Amino acid sequence: MPTERWETRLIHSEARVPAGFRSLATPVHRGSTTLFERAADAHEDWNHERHAYTYGLFGTPTTLELAARLAELEHGSHTFLTPGGQGAISLIWLALAKAGDHVLVSDSVYGPNRALATKVLTRLGVNPEFYPPTIGADIAGLIRPETTLVWCESPGSVTFEVQDVPAIAAAAHARGAVVALDNTWSAGVFFDAFAHGADVTMQALTKYVGGHSDLLLGSVTVRDEALYERIGSTLQFLGMAVSPDDCSLALRGMQTLAVRLRALEASTLRVARWLAERPEVERVLHPALPSCPGHELWLRDFTGSTSVFSIVFAERYAAEKILAFVDALELFEIGYSWGGVTSLAVPQFSIRRSTPAFRRNSIVRLNIGLEATEDLIADLEQAMRVLG
Ligand SMILES: *Cc1c(COP(=O)(O)O)cnc(C)c1O
Repeated sequence: MPTERWETRLIHSEARVPAGFRSLATPVHRGSTTLFERAADAHEDWNHERHAYTYGLFGTPTTLELAARLAELEHGSHTFLTPGGQGAISLIWLALAKAGDHVLVSDSVYGPNRALATKVLTRLGVNPEFYPPTIGADIAGLIRPETTLVWCESPGSVTFEVQDVPAIAAAAHARGAVVALDNTWSAGVFFDAFAHGADVTMQALTKYVGGHSDLLLGSVTVRDEALYERIGSTLQFLGMAVSPDDCSLALRGMQTLAVRLRALEASTLRVARWLAERPEVERVLHPALPSCPGHELWLRDFTGSTSVFSIVFAERYAAEKILAFVDALELFEIGYSWGGVTSLAVPQFSIRRSTPAFRRNSIVRLNIGLEATEDLIADLEQAMRVLG
């Protein structure tokens, strides 16, 4: 072939770099098109154990490394990545629920998960029922012949009830139902979900694995091959692609996860215990404190605690006073999501529950960051003066 024109050289270059580069960072492999050696090899398959790489949507070495490391950390067999924690939740539902199914969902699940169940799953003919998070073995009484899935989140969002996952799983498994668990609070490490009976878990990697409030990513981890096949064959057609750049940030986050979690745990416990002594605070909802529903289950089943918890203000404070308290905070920023390095405060005045457990307009959720604990306590103390 004659020497190609420069336009062609731009696309098919013969420039070469030395081989043998090694570094400590996982390379960022971007790519939609995956190349095959021979025409006969070209096909699409989500399962990288059958065929390593067939299309960018199903993974590049960067995304597959993150997935494999998460499966290792959570003691699962395989992990799938999704564009966010809520994407992980919807992947589990769409893969496992079908028309005619009855599904049991903890009353304190993450709000958008509840909304997905009531607004989308119902449209697809699935019948969700919300059960009290502290139900334990009594869940057996709610399981019907058509119950296929029990969703747990322990501790729950906003109100932090710790669930008896082993008891719930035993009851579900006795009737052939699958147990899904949102394991975001424990970062997938402080609660060994599969050892406690879960079949499939998800995490918002957005929180602790990312750890710096700069990415949105989720994961779904399964116990066995049957769930791997069921979820993978659904994911193939949902088109939930993740960015290798975000995955490389998550891989970097994993390297410091242990030290961040231990520092956050210690600081958060000091702040929570300080708040528990304050007359303005009726109750602290932190799983490691006896005032939290299910605290004894946290002691039994968890190996640590993290940085997000709630406080219930005393009944005498009107909603406006509590909002003024949040506004008076100087170091705590106001915003959703958590697990990063910055302390956050968000009023949680309109939580939806089938069985209301806490007074409306009384809860503020806090996320403790990596600031000096003394400064955070001083900030909370000065802001409490506005309560009067
Ligand atoms: C944040 C969160 C999610 C959703 O994660 P995104 O990445 O924000 O979509 C799911 N579950 C829990 C418990 C969460 O806190």
